[in-house]
Amino acid sequence: MVTIKDKQFSPFIDAETIQQRLEILGEEITKDFQEKTPILIGILNGSFMFISDLVKHISCPIEVSFIRISSYEGTESTGEVTSIMGLNTDLKDRHVIIVEDIVDTGLSMYRILEELKIMQPSSLSISTLLLKPDALKHPIECRYIGFEIPNKFVVGYGLDYDGLGRNLPEIYQLK
Ligand code: 5GP
Repeated sequence: MVTIKDKQFSPFIDAETIQQRLEILGEEITKDFQEKTPILIGILNGSFMFISDLVKHISCPIEVSFIRISSYEGTESTGEVTSIMGLNTDLKDRHVIIVEDIVDTGLSMYRILEELKIMQPSSLSISTLLLKPDALKHPIECRYIGFEIPNKFVVGYGLDYDGLGRNLPEIYQLK
């Protein structure tokens, strides 16, 4: 059990299980993208640990890049606007794999897809370490999924609670 600030978390997915699963995902990506030199785009901050371990299991040529999304209240009544920051690679005619820590409602990923599609990549796939199927509200198709999990808050392995817990090598669930 770990305590982060005011909350207690119990062990959920251990480090060895995560690494075993990433090995399989890496092999699948290698098989699917031979000769295609895909570009993996990690969504900061949460995906930093996942992508750094995942790429070690991919044995075809790849590129790696990172983006950050920012959400803010727009001036229009439509409310929240998400924009992408940090993308410095031309994605036109490239095979793009978005690498995310967790897809919850799917709203963030939906917005990321909308923005990246404009850049006319050859293909756009999603790899997420965690997926909460019961929380999903947007039509997101994740091609490479680490683990499907229940609709409960998790930390560790890149995921934070109030900025803390990202350095834990395993995943914990809110008690
Ligand atoms: P969505 O837009 O899919 O609802 O949420 C995506 C973002 O919410 C994730 O990238 C992550 O930052 C945050 N999030 C959703 N569920 C969890 C969770 O269980 N734990 C943590 N640490 N963050 C979460």
